[in-house]
Amino acid sequence: MKKIVALLLAIVLLLCGCGQKGADASGTIFCMDTVMDLQIWGSDADEAYTKLAQLLRSLEQEWSANEEESAAAKLDREDAELTQQQAALAQKALALSQRTQGAFEPRIYGLTSLWGFTTGQYRVPTPTQIAEGMQSTRWDLGAVVKGYAGDRAVELMQELEVDRALLNLGGNVQTYGTKADGSAWVIGVRDPQDPNGTVGNLEVTGTCNVITSGGYQRYFEQDGVRYHHIIDPKTGYPADSDLASVTVVCTDGMTGDVLSTALFVMGYEKAVAHWQQHDDFEAVFILKDGTVRVTEGITFTGGSYEVISREN
Ligand code: ADP
Ligand code: MG
Repeated sequence: MKKIVALLLAIVLLLCGCGQKGADASGTIFCMDTVMDLQIWGSDADEAYTKLAQLLRSLEQEWSANEEESAAAKLDREDAELTQQQAALAQKALALSQRTQGAFEPRIYGLTSLWGFTTGQYRVPTPTQIAEGMQSTRWDLGAVVKGYAGDRAVELMQELEVDRALLNLGGNVQTYGTKADGSAWVIGVRDPQDPNGTVGNLEVTGTCNVITSGGYQRYFEQDGVRYHHIIDPKTGYPADSDLASVTVVCTDGMTGDVLSTALFVMGYEKAVAHWQQHDDFEAVFILKDGTVRVTEGITFTGGSYEVISREN
C-alpha cells in the first residue's frame, strides 16, 4: 500500500508541475484509493474546497464496488431504489459501453474481483474461474467514478464564486475556468517507462478533462508475468494491448474516463478508428515501443511525437 501511495504522490506532483502558485484554497486528500490534489481560486475557494472534499468522499462511499449498501450494490439488486442521479449514471455507463462495443463493460465486477483488483488480494484465476466470472453481471464503476466526480465538481464550482481550479483526481486531471493570464493549462503526460518522467505536455484551455489509463498504473507480478488492472471483457484477462497508455482530452469527465479505459482495451488501430468516427475527444497514445502519437486536435509540447490525422 505504501508503495502505491508513494507512486501516486509522484504522479500527482508530476502532473501538477503546472506553474500554478498560490491557489486560494488547496490541499491533498486520499480518496477512492488514490491521492487527490485540489487547487481552487476565487472568493468562495474555501467553501468550494470543503464541499468538494465532502463530495468526493460521499461519491467514494456511494460507488464503492465492495460496500453492501453502495449504489453499485443496489444496481445488482434490481428491486433496490436508486436516486435519479444514480439511475442516470448507470444509464450513461450502459450507453457508453455500447458506444465502445463492450470494450468498456460496467458489469465487470465478476472479473475484476476475481483477479483481486477490487481488494488488492491479487491472484491469477483458473480458466474455469474466468469463464464463471464472465457470466457475472455485477457492477464495477471503478473505471468511471473519478471522471464522474470531475463532472460533479464542475457543477459544484459553477454554483459558487470560483474563478478557476486545477483538480488532480488520482491521475484524472479536471481543469475549470481560465488561468489568470489567459494562458493554457499545461499538464504533463507521464512516461509509462519512468515513474518520474514525462513524454511531453498537453496544453488545454478552459474547463476540460485530461484522463490517462495505462497498464503500468496498477498491476501485480506472478512467475515473472505482469498482470495489469484493465481487463478485456471479451477474454476475461488483462487486455493484451499494444498500448502502454492512453490519455484522453474530453469536456465530459465520465465520457473521457470510459474512453481512456476502452481505447486501451481496443488497442491502437481500433482506438484511432474510434477517434476518427467521433468528435468529442482527442487522445495521446503511447505505444509499447515508446512511440508517442497525438491526434491532430491536441497542442503537445516538450517532447517528440507523430500526429494522427482524421483522414486515413
Ligand atoms: P484507474 O481507475 O486506475 O484510473 P481506469 O479508469 O482505466 O484506471 O479504470 C480501471 C478500473 O476499472 C479497474 O481497476 C477495474 O475496477 C475497472 N475495469 C477494468 N477493466 C475494465 C473494463 N474493460 N471496463 C470497465 N471497467 C473496467
Ligand atoms: Mg477510466
